[in-house]
Amino acid sequence: MKEFFQENKKIAKIITEVAGLANYLWQKGWAERNAGNISVNLSELMTDIEFELDHYPMFQLERSYDALANLYFFVTGTGKRMRDLAISPMKNACIIKMNKKGNAYHIITMKKKNLYNFRPTSELPTHLAVHDLLVKSGSKNKAVVHTHPNELVAMTQIPKFQSAEMLNKTLWGMHPEAFVFVPRGVFMVPYILPGSHKIADATIEGFKNGHEVVIWEKHGAFAIGETVSDAFDMIDILTKSAQIWFMAMQTGNEPEGLNDAQLLELKEAFLKK
Ligand SMILES: [Zn+2]
Repeated sequence: MKEFFQENKKIAKIITEVAGLANYLWQKGWAERNAGNISVNLSELMTDIEFELDHYPMFQLERSYDALANLYFFVTGTGKRMRDLAISPMKNACIIKMNKKGNAYHIITMKKKNLYNFRPTSELPTHLAVHDLLVKSGSKNKAVVHTHPNELVAMTQIPKFQSAEMLNKTLWGMHPEAFVFVPRGVFMVPYILPGSHKIADATIEGFKNGHEVVIWEKHGAFAIGETVSDAFDMIDILTKSAQIWFMAMQTGNEPEGLNDAQLLELKEAFLKK
């Protein structure tokens, strides 16, 4: 018998897309061991399915996410490898349904007796806080991706790039597409303990202010998008810029970057808003 996430073609397609992305992240060297986590809001695709929630394990959350009451999310598992998720997505990820108060969730892709030690990502506080914000603001963005892009993380080890202003100007200056596709630039979160509510709170400040990519200093990137591919694209473009910066620096020269007039010209040509 097929599971609901196989029967529902739209959900099956999203799971296939996540598996494809997990493979890219591993191939790019951004997903060592269990690094990275992904979540997607599936609620709009789940409307006609009823679950006997008593059959599924329930886990209490430390906080309430009012806007997420009764919603459904695909979430990658804690301690799971992206390279394994690429091959067997539903052994390394799950679908959760939030309870009606938004302060607990059921894992609905695993029966109580089959639970083993599976749990959603340790960064669930940040994923849920971001989805809560996206739902409240009526955003079209359904996907949240966290990964460890090497060159972007390396730049945050350099004190002058720990300021968003310097980092954005440098990333935009390395390639025009960085400005065209990430015109609001990144939001910088100073180093904070991963997996904490504190890092979740700091991260949503960036998304509240209209950024689509948040960089965690000395750790990684968080991006939102309509699909996981959209979120990945922004991190990919910015990492290309970071790579160009390092390649130019390796020649012993500081790269010139696009100047203010060239950035303004791009803004006028591509950003009509
Ligand atoms: Zn991480």
